[in-house]
Amino acid sequence: MKLLLASGNTKKLGELSLLLAPLGVEVATPADVGGIPDVVEDKDTFAGNAAKKAVSAARATDLWCLADDSGLEVDALDGAPGVRSARFAGEPSNDATNNAKLLRELDGLDAERRGARFVCALALANPSAEVVAEIRGEAHGRILASARGDAGFGYDPLFLFDEDGAPGSGSTFAELSAEQKSAVSHRGRALAELARRLPALLEA
Ligand code: IMP
Repeated sequence: MKLLLASGNTKKLGELSLLLAPLGVEVATPADVGGIPDVVEDKDTFAGNAAKKAVSAARATDLWCLADDSGLEVDALDGAPGVRSARFAGEPSNDATNNAKLLRELDGLDAERRGARFVCALALANPSAEVVAEIRGEAHGRILASARGDAGFGYDPLFLFDEDGAPGSGSTFAELSAEQKSAVSHRGRALAELARRLPALLEA
């Protein structure tokens, strides 16, 4: 089975490919199929945007398509930046200005009030452009007052992963290797669930 990963984000494509490799699924990227249409991410939920992207890509390619929409929800900001995570500090999307804005908005808050979670919504569309699976993964932690680590992307250097007993807890996502992050991340957890369900989904 060939599965198109409907994302233009090269860091995410890398993470998704790593997680799908053990499944024996042939993974294609938008570049492999000559590109996919741009999608306006205008839904107010991660799941809504992921479904919209998966359906659009499947319509254009007649392939199985997996899309993800993800972002950061901060308790003290009532769940912001949420679906606006990529463009929190405005267009075009910029990790440095997004992180600077997040630090400004949380300035002065003590550690207990800096709780946050990364959320990943996955949507799998079949070649008829029907959504056949919607999966949500989360990773919990808090936002530090300054960046730590050089790996990853986006808000990783500010996100202290903090889940009792989980490997990597106590590190920021930017201090973990790609493999370590994928083992516990919102995207990794959602993909692990997809991997469990994929055989039955493909048979249906
Ligand atoms: P999307 O491309 O619409 O899913 O936007 C996701 C945005 O959320 C990214 O630009 C990042 O700012 C943030 N984000 C999502 N997943 C991660 C992650 O694993 N690490 C850091 N930031 C993330």
